[in-house]
Amino acid sequence: MIYIIFILLFGLCIGSFLNVLVIRLHDKKTLFGRSECPNCHHKLSFFDLIPLFSFLSLKGKCRYCKEKISWQYFFVELATALLFLISFIINYFYSDFNILILIRDIVVISALVAIFVYDAKYMEIPDEISIPTSVIVAVLNYFIYKNLESIIFGATIGVMFFLIQFIISRGKWIGGGDIRMGLLIGVLLGPQKAIFAIFLSYFVGAIYSIPIIVNKYFNKNKIEKEELNQNILPLAPFLVIGILMVLFFSGFIVKILS
Ligand SMILES: [Zn+2]
Repeated sequence: MIYIIFILLFGLCIGSFLNVLVIRLHDKKTLFGRSECPNCHHKLSFFDLIPLFSFLSLKGKCRYCKEKISWQYFFVELATALLFLISFIINYFYSDFNILILIRDIVVISALVAIFVYDAKYMEIPDEISIPTSVIVAVLNYFIYKNLESIIFGATIGVMFFLIQFIISRGKWIGGGDIRMGLLIGVLLGPQKAIFAIFLSYFVGAIYSIPIIVNKYFNKNKIEKEELNQNILPLAPFLVIGILMVLFFSGFIVKILS
């Protein structure tokens, strides 16, 4: 029980940090220095920084200028804590516990949450997160599984999948950031699970897109032609969902199938 409370609090703190990381990475600001309100630039006090509770007690408004604070802060903190908890429960109770795997999963979840928010917000996948995470994960996976082949083969498959689409579409469907994301998927999951995770992502993305496409079709005349052809959906959030599903549940699937 004490573990569960600890992991939830730890997740809330990391989630709070990820909120700051996304904004400062985009604005090219240093990670150090006190946080401030994006509207009135008042420096935030210690009590304004307590995850979840400060948001709720202030009813989602800045203490100083009363400007509304985005729900993003609240949900990112909550989601990070819950994902940490799921990972802990699966690692601790449902598999042969290995502290390196838990550390790897905590690193991966943190990076994926940041990438999810960044891409949803700015339509871009930050290399500053995807590349270092790929390196850390590759090293940890080497020590965990001692299978260099799987890491290299996985990385090749992951990169090639997006690189080919990038070349065919001349960078229209896929951005360079997606290719680096393919690297992360490959080194994390190895070749087979990486392919499975990517297809799962595309499947979830397709289901999500159906109402949008239908809506576009029926309002064809009202929408400008350029807008009709535009790719409006960021890809990374769906990749994040696919990766996490495979990361969390592939153990179960393998057990059921064997
Ligand atoms: Zn303010």
